[in-house]
Amino acid sequence: MKVSEKFKIIRKNIKNACESSGRNSDDVHVVAVTKYVSIERAEEAVEAGLIHLGENRDEGLLSKWDVLQDKPQWHFIGSLQTRKVKNIIDKVSYIHSLDRLSLAKEIHKRADKPVSCFVQVNVSGEDSKHGLSPQEVKPFIGSLKDFTNIKVIGLMTMAPHTDDEPFLRTCFRQLKTIQEEINALNLPYAPCTELSMGMSNDYMIAIEEGATFIRIGTALVGND
Ligand SMILES: *Cc1c(COP(=O)(O)O)cnc(C)c1O
Repeated sequence: MKVSEKFKIIRKNIKNACESSGRNSDDVHVVAVTKYVSIERAEEAVEAGLIHLGENRDEGLLSKWDVLQDKPQWHFIGSLQTRKVKNIIDKVSYIHSLDRLSLAKEIHKRADKPVSCFVQVNVSGEDSKHGLSPQEVKPFIGSLKDFTNIKVIGLMTMAPHTDDEPFLRTCFRQLKTIQEEINALNLPYAPCTELSMGMSNDYMIAIEEGATFIRIGTALVGND
Protein backbone atom coordinates (compact mmCIF):
# COMPACT_ATOMS: atom_id res chain seq x y z
CA MET A 1 0.00 0.00 0.00
CA LYS A 2 1.18 3.51 -0.80
CA VAL A 3 2.19 5.85 2.01
CA SER A 4 -0.58 8.22 0.91
CA GLU A 5 -3.20 5.47 1.39
CA LYS A 6 -1.84 4.52 4.80
CA PHE A 7 -1.77 8.19 5.80
CA LYS A 8 -5.42 8.45 4.82
CA ILE A 9 -6.32 5.53 7.10
CA ILE A 10 -4.29 7.01 9.93
CA ARG A 11 -5.97 10.40 9.51
CA LYS A 12 -9.35 8.68 9.77
CA ASN A 13 -8.25 6.89 12.93
CA ILE A 14 -6.98 10.17 14.39
CA LYS A 15 -10.34 11.77 13.64
CA ASN A 16 -12.18 8.90 15.35
CA ALA A 17 -9.92 8.97 18.41
CA CYS A 18 -10.37 12.75 18.65
CA GLU A 19 -14.14 12.45 18.36
CA SER A 20 -14.33 9.80 21.07
CA SER A 21 -12.29 11.99 23.43
CA GLY A 22 -13.69 15.42 22.58
CA ARG A 23 -10.47 16.72 21.04
CA ASN A 24 -9.67 18.75 17.93
CA SER A 25 -7.70 16.72 15.38
CA ASP A 26 -5.74 19.85 14.41
CA ASP A 27 -3.95 19.43 17.74
CA VAL A 28 -2.50 16.04 16.78
CA HIS A 29 0.67 16.10 14.65
CA VAL A 30 1.95 13.02 12.86
CA VAL A 31 5.70 12.39 12.85
CA ALA A 32 6.52 9.88 10.10
CA VAL A 33 9.30 7.73 11.54
CA THR A 34 11.53 6.84 8.59
CA LYS A 35 14.34 5.10 10.51
CA TYR A 36 13.64 1.69 8.92
CA VAL A 37 13.09 2.81 5.35
CA SER A 38 14.84 4.10 2.24
CA ILE A 39 15.32 7.70 1.20
CA GLU A 40 12.81 7.05 -1.60
CA ARG A 41 10.15 6.04 0.93
CA ALA A 42 10.89 9.13 2.99
CA GLU A 43 10.43 11.23 -0.15
CA GLU A 44 7.14 9.48 -0.79
CA ALA A 45 6.03 10.43 2.72
CA VAL A 46 6.83 14.09 2.08
CA GLU A 47 4.95 13.94 -1.22
CA ALA A 48 1.98 12.40 0.62
CA GLY A 49 1.83 15.57 2.72
CA LEU A 50 3.75 14.56 5.84
CA ILE A 51 5.58 17.60 7.14
CA HIS A 52 7.26 16.00 10.18
CA LEU A 53 9.89 13.26 9.72
CA GLY A 54 11.58 11.40 12.57
CA GLU A 55 14.92 9.59 12.72
CA ASN A 56 16.73 7.96 15.64
CA ARG A 57 20.34 7.88 14.37
CA ASP A 58 22.51 10.68 13.12
CA GLU A 59 23.56 8.68 10.01
CA GLY A 60 19.95 8.09 8.97
CA LEU A 61 19.03 11.70 9.49
CA LEU A 62 22.03 13.04 7.59
CA SER A 63 21.60 10.77 4.56
CA LYS A 64 17.93 11.71 4.24
CA TRP A 65 18.70 15.35 4.91
CA ASP A 66 21.07 15.36 1.91
CA VAL A 67 18.11 14.69 -0.35
CA LEU A 68 15.12 16.25 1.42
CA GLN A 69 16.87 19.17 3.14
CA ASP A 70 14.40 21.34 5.02
CA LYS A 71 11.32 20.30 3.03
CA PRO A 72 10.05 18.44 6.12
CA GLN A 73 10.73 19.41 9.72
CA TRP A 74 13.14 16.93 11.29
CA HIS A 75 12.59 15.26 14.65
CA PHE A 76 15.36 13.44 16.47
CA ILE A 77 13.54 10.68 18.38
CA GLY A 78 16.25 8.28 19.55
CA SER A 79 18.68 8.32 22.42
CA LEU A 80 21.24 10.95 21.51
CA GLN A 81 24.92 10.61 22.29
CA THR A 82 26.41 13.88 23.41
CA ARG A 83 29.21 13.73 20.83
CA LYS A 84 26.65 13.39 17.99
CA VAL A 85 24.79 16.60 18.83
CA LYS A 86 27.00 18.76 16.62
CA ASN A 87 26.17 16.60 13.57
CA ILE A 88 22.45 17.11 13.72
CA ILE A 89 21.80 20.29 15.66
CA ASP A 90 21.43 22.67 12.72
CA LYS A 91 19.12 20.22 10.91
CA VAL A 92 16.53 19.29 13.53
CA SER A 93 13.55 21.31 14.69
CA TYR A 94 12.69 18.96 17.57
CA ILE A 95 14.59 16.65 19.91
CA HIS A 96 12.36 14.11 21.69
CA SER A 97 14.98 12.47 23.88
CA LEU A 98 16.36 15.04 26.29
CA ASP A 99 17.15 12.95 29.37
CA ARG A 100 20.29 14.30 31.03
CA LEU A 101 22.12 17.48 31.93
CA SER A 102 25.25 16.71 29.86
CA LEU A 103 23.04 16.47 26.77
CA ALA A 104 21.27 19.73 27.61
CA LYS A 105 24.65 21.46 28.01
CA GLU A 106 25.84 20.25 24.63
CA ILE A 107 22.60 21.24 22.85
CA HIS A 108 22.80 24.67 24.45
CA LYS A 109 26.43 25.05 23.40
CA ARG A 110 26.04 23.88 19.80
CA ALA A 111 22.70 25.44 18.84
CA ASP A 112 22.51 28.97 17.54
CA LYS A 113 18.83 29.34 18.38
CA PRO A 114 16.43 27.73 20.87
CA VAL A 115 15.64 24.09 20.04
CA SER A 116 12.22 22.62 20.83
CA CYS A 117 12.87 19.69 23.15
CA PHE A 118 10.79 17.00 24.80
CA VAL A 119 12.04 15.59 28.07
CA GLN A 120 11.90 11.80 27.81
CA VAL A 121 10.22 10.03 30.70
CA ASN A 122 10.25 6.31 31.48
CA VAL A 123 6.79 6.06 33.00
CA SER A 124 6.54 2.27 32.84
CA GLY A 125 9.82 1.79 34.71
CA GLU A 126 11.02 -0.85 32.22
CA ASP A 127 14.80 -1.28 32.40
CA SER A 128 15.11 -1.28 28.62
CA LYS A 129 13.64 2.19 28.23
CA HIS A 130 15.57 5.44 28.31
CA GLY A 131 14.31 8.47 30.12
CA LEU A 132 13.92 9.98 33.55
CA SER A 133 11.76 8.47 36.24
CA PRO A 134 8.59 10.48 36.94
CA GLN A 135 10.07 11.85 40.19
CA GLU A 136 13.17 13.14 38.41
CA VAL A 137 11.33 15.25 35.84
CA LYS A 138 10.55 18.37 37.87
CA PRO A 139 14.05 18.82 39.35
CA PHE A 140 15.62 18.11 35.95
CA ILE A 141 13.53 20.75 34.21
CA GLY A 142 14.31 23.15 37.05
CA SER A 143 18.01 22.67 36.31
CA LEU A 144 17.63 23.74 32.65
CA LYS A 145 16.84 27.38 33.33
CA ASP A 146 20.23 28.77 32.25
CA PHE A 147 20.34 26.85 28.97
CA THR A 148 18.69 29.50 26.86
CA ASN A 149 18.91 27.40 23.69
CA ILE A 150 16.66 24.74 25.20
CA LYS A 151 12.92 25.18 25.11
CA VAL A 152 11.05 22.37 26.85
CA ILE A 153 7.90 22.20 24.78
CA GLY A 154 6.67 18.95 26.31
CA LEU A 155 7.29 15.41 27.50
CA MET A 156 7.87 12.21 25.56
CA THR A 157 7.47 8.57 26.46
CA MET A 158 7.74 5.18 24.80
CA ALA A 159 5.10 2.86 26.18
CA PRO A 160 5.87 -0.84 26.60
CA HIS A 161 5.10 -3.05 23.62
CA THR A 162 1.91 -4.67 24.88
CA ASP A 163 -1.77 -5.13 24.02
CA ASP A 164 -2.71 -4.42 27.63
CA GLU A 165 -4.85 -1.37 26.96
CA PRO A 166 -5.55 -0.40 30.59
CA PHE A 167 -1.82 -0.49 31.31
CA LEU A 168 -1.05 1.66 28.26
CA ARG A 169 -3.70 4.18 29.33
CA THR A 170 -2.13 4.33 32.79
CA CYS A 171 1.28 5.10 31.25
CA PHE A 172 -0.06 7.83 28.97
CA ARG A 173 -2.16 9.37 31.75
CA GLN A 174 0.84 9.50 34.03
CA LEU A 175 2.80 11.41 31.41
CA LYS A 176 -0.09 13.85 30.96
CA THR A 177 -0.30 14.42 34.71
CA ILE A 178 3.40 15.31 34.89
CA GLN A 179 3.07 17.54 31.79
CA GLU A 180 0.24 19.47 33.45
CA GLU A 181 2.27 19.87 36.64
CA ILE A 182 5.24 21.32 34.74
CA ASN A 183 2.96 23.51 32.62
CA ALA A 184 1.40 24.93 35.79
CA LEU A 185 4.83 26.14 36.98
CA ASN A 186 4.69 28.77 34.18
CA LEU A 187 8.41 28.54 33.48
CA PRO A 188 9.21 30.75 30.47
CA TYR A 189 11.75 28.24 29.13
CA ALA A 190 9.47 25.23 29.70
CA PRO A 191 5.93 25.89 28.46
CA CYS A 192 5.46 22.10 28.40
CA THR A 193 2.22 22.10 26.45
CA GLU A 194 2.96 19.06 24.24
CA LEU A 195 2.87 15.29 24.67
CA SER A 196 4.90 13.07 22.32
CA MET A 197 3.38 9.61 22.79
CA GLY A 198 1.84 6.87 20.68
CA MET A 199 3.42 4.69 17.98
CA SER A 200 2.00 2.27 15.38
CA ASN A 201 0.45 -0.05 17.96
CA ASP A 202 -0.97 2.40 20.43
CA TYR A 203 -1.44 5.80 18.81
CA MET A 204 -5.25 5.84 19.05
CA ILE A 205 -5.09 5.18 22.79
CA ALA A 206 -2.37 7.83 23.13
CA ILE A 207 -4.56 10.38 21.32
CA GLU A 208 -7.50 9.61 23.59
CA GLU A 209 -5.16 10.29 26.51
CA GLY A 210 -3.91 13.61 25.13
CA ALA A 211 -1.04 13.02 22.67
CA THR A 212 -0.18 16.03 20.49
CA PHE A 213 2.69 14.40 18.56
CA ILE A 214 2.36 10.74 17.55
CA ARG A 215 5.42 8.98 16.12
CA ILE A 216 4.47 6.40 13.51
CA GLY A 217 6.84 4.19 11.54
CA THR A 218 5.58 0.72 10.66
CA ALA A 219 1.92 1.58 10.10
CA LEU A 220 2.70 4.58 7.91
CA VAL A 221 5.93 4.16 5.94
CA GLY A 222 6.55 0.48 6.71
CA ASN A 223 9.55 -1.17 8.31
CA ASP A 224 11.55 -2.65 5.44
C1 LIG B 1 10.91 3.41 15.98
C2 LIG B 1 10.30 4.41 16.86
C3 LIG B 1 8.96 4.80 16.67
C4 LIG B 1 8.05 4.21 15.61
O1 LIG B 1 7.74 2.87 15.88
P1 LIG B 1 6.62 2.07 15.08
O2 LIG B 1 6.17 1.04 16.05
O3 LIG B 1 7.29 1.50 13.89
O4 LIG B 1 5.53 3.01 14.74
C5 LIG B 1 8.46 5.79 17.51
N1 LIG B 1 9.22 6.36 18.47
C6 LIG B 1 10.50 6.01 18.68
C7 LIG B 1 11.26 6.67 19.76
C8 LIG B 1 11.08 5.03 17.89
O5 LIG B 1 12.35 4.68 18.12
